[in-house]
Amino acid sequence: MSQAFSSDQYFRILDSSPDHVFIFNSEGKYVDVFGGHENGIGFDCKAYVGQSLHDVMPTTLADLFLKTIQTALSSQKTQRISYQFNQQQLQDLPYSSSSPELWIESILKPFTLDSGEQVVIWNARNITEKHHLEQKLRQLSEIDTLTGILNRRAFMNCLSDKVESFQIFGMNTSFLMLDIDRFKLVNDNFGHVIGDQVITHVTKTCQEELRKHDIFGRIGGEEFAIILHDADQDQAYEIAERLREAVDNNVCILDENTQVHTTISVGITQFQPTDTDNKFLLTRSDNAMYQSKKQGRNQVTIYDNSMHGNTD
Ligand code: GH3
Ligand code: MG
Ligand code: MG
Repeated sequence: MSQAFSSDQYFRILDSSPDHVFIFNSEGKYVDVFGGHENGIGFDCKAYVGQSLHDVMPTTLADLFLKTIQTALSSQKTQRISYQFNQQQLQDLPYSSSSPELWIESILKPFTLDSGEQVVIWNARNITEKHHLEQKLRQLSEIDTLTGILNRRAFMNCLSDKVESFQIFGMNTSFLMLDIDRFKLVNDNFGHVIGDQVITHVTKTCQEELRKHDIFGRIGGEEFAIILHDADQDQAYEIAERLREAVDNNVCILDENTQVHTTISVGITQFQPTDTDNKFLLTRSDNAMYQSKKQGRNQVTIYDNSMHGNTD
């Protein structure tokens, strides 16, 4: 077969690759580097040739890269890796970037040179924009569009994580369930649109009383749940009372003729070692909340075993 291009032409084709193409030997030495013009890092990395990973980047990143190269070579399988260069790490590199952080996705392919030496062809692409878009989409998928707090799915995921860490570390954690009282009447008297505004108002009122690291979610139409870190059930009771009072005292003013007064009923339970699943906390707090409803609403109740089996 005749050669379609001269060697120089092949080189220039490779060197015009929008992504960086690095050739590494098994010890993490830069054997050669091509392209990378579209990677937006302002540096072609050609000065790295002859140096090793540990010469040009922080040890933890260099260790990770070397391990990935060695895995590609020992398994003879293509490896994929995504990583971030932050400002701190960039300072260690012989170039500066205008971007505060870069996200790179790399594909490593094992290759045998004519000499028999095993190398890795490392294709690196700047995916910073894609990464930020994905992050934004993930955030959007976790946020309740009406109130701007966590939606049910995201909240339940957080709760599972908290249940898991409670099983390991056992720090005091409490769980609150909140439901707006007689909300059907709000919809009946003012309509669904104003009902929605009242739900947002109650959310904001509660949010102002909560600490930054408390986790607040809308788990149903006019039902909310809160995870309180570092709070036993008595401390949680005090916080819940503050929330209850704040909602009771903060009428939702829609215009000069329309004011809607609402209250909330709250059920509290503290995380227990036997809580191996969200459902235990949801059931106990729901039983306690039902007790608040039963006793006249606009109340806070801490769960106790006598409430077991309470249902609407
Ligand atoms: P209770 O004190 O027993 O909680 O009485 P309630 O009327 O609040 O009863 P319940 O909690 O069972 O009913 C909630 C009502 O909230 C039913 C539904 O019409 C209304 N709702 C649920 N989601 C929304 C929403 O997103 N917007 C509006 N405007 N109303 C909603
Ligand atoms: Mg209700
Ligand atoms: Mg309800």
